[in-house]
Amino acid sequence: MKTLKQIKYQTPILAYTDVNLNTQIIYMKNNILVINCGSSSLKCSLINPVNGDIIFFALAEKLFTQDALISFKQGEIKQTTPLISPYDHQAAIQSLVAFLTQQSLHSSICAIGHRVVHGGEKYSQPTLISEQVKTSINELAKLAPLHNPANLQGINAAETIFSNLPQVAIFDTAFHQSMPEKAFLYALPYSLYKEHGIRKYGFHGTSHYFVCKNAAKILDKPLEQCNFISAHLGNGCSISAVKNGKSVDTSLGLTPLEGLMMGTRSGSIDPGIIFHLVEQLGYSLEQVNILLNKESGLLGVSQLTNDCRELEQASADGNDLAQLALQIFCYRIAKMIASFVPCFMQLDGLIFTGGIGENSQFVRSQVLAQLSLLNFTEDQSANQHCRFGQSGNISTENSRPCWVIPTNEEWVIAEQSYQLLNGAK
Ligand code: AMP
Repeated sequence: MKTLKQIKYQTPILAYTDVNLNTQIIYMKNNILVINCGSSSLKCSLINPVNGDIIFFALAEKLFTQDALISFKQGEIKQTTPLISPYDHQAAIQSLVAFLTQQSLHSSICAIGHRVVHGGEKYSQPTLISEQVKTSINELAKLAPLHNPANLQGINAAETIFSNLPQVAIFDTAFHQSMPEKAFLYALPYSLYKEHGIRKYGFHGTSHYFVCKNAAKILDKPLEQCNFISAHLGNGCSISAVKNGKSVDTSLGLTPLEGLMMGTRSGSIDPGIIFHLVEQLGYSLEQVNILLNKESGLLGVSQLTNDCRELEQASADGNDLAQLALQIFCYRIAKMIASFVPCFMQLDGLIFTGGIGENSQFVRSQVLAQLSLLNFTEDQSANQHCRFGQSGNISTENSRPCWVIPTNEEWVIAEQSYQLLNGAK
């Protein structure tokens, strides 16, 4: 039987020594397995970090229930399999490995890249995962109780199964660590920041970075010389001011509840409403939490759905509350974009991304119409054209540029993991 001794794993091309034959075998091993764990789901893609090609995609859902299942997609091959007990992240990754092995893809993986939601102030760069890093991610769970524990479960499961591969954490908050104090501090006693870390952290960092990098390519300028406002509009929404390629302000805060109106989240409200709900209307804190995170936003105002596509249809059919929900949604986006004017002396353009930003002609049109003072004018036919993954400039020739750029957070995770392991900047 052949015994293979791995002699290095850091490079994309792996060299093994075949101990029996005493010859070196070179394996192409340059794909990154990107894992994004939620509390009851696991998304996973096998990605070529250089060109972003998705070789394989898997989605495990309903974890921790007996209905847990995983679906795989590789080219034309599609397969769905029930998960085995205990129906957890590890069961999902085990099933994934079986599929990868069956398709002879297992040996092409050089590292695992994990999306980790909260990196606090400690992590502003892609980070090789160690026991100490895992302890920090666990400590930061107090700032992201729904996300960091799930991310950690994915890391632990992947470490057990891919014990010989390096694991890298890419933090959603990292891109925003460049914000200055005046942008990230709340007007609260300074001691709350110093002693308890209460400040704005921002999220969707990998998405804002990806679309800004691509807008810079369109302008044929280095990202470090570009100024953009980037609007990630999906079920969760955030807008970032990116100056000289770095985030200088963003709409999400200590938690993903601040800022814009979202699918089911209220975004910013008068904090006095919380006292009113508790003291006058008898809400418990848990009820307020559910109200603001799960029952508000597009769903709450429309009383119908959090799905923008369905709301646009209902609105076109004459539903008053659907129309109102979309009006508030678009007005608040425009207001947030305008609020970033103090960040810039010059602005190269505006970027729309995320499920709504990439697809909704209606939302983009309403937002641009309210920003004519900033010299944005919609090109209606270009706007109509940009959807289902089609990128482009949707503004007129005389307007400040406005692009639709589909996001690709998985590619950023793969690319940054790969660059970290290869010592690239
Ligand atoms: P995301 O969270 O980025 O996956 O985005 C989900 C949101 O994108 C949902 O509100 C969808 O209704 C919305 N969306 C997807 N496609 C369209 C479309 N063609 N028109 C309007 N909204 C869309």
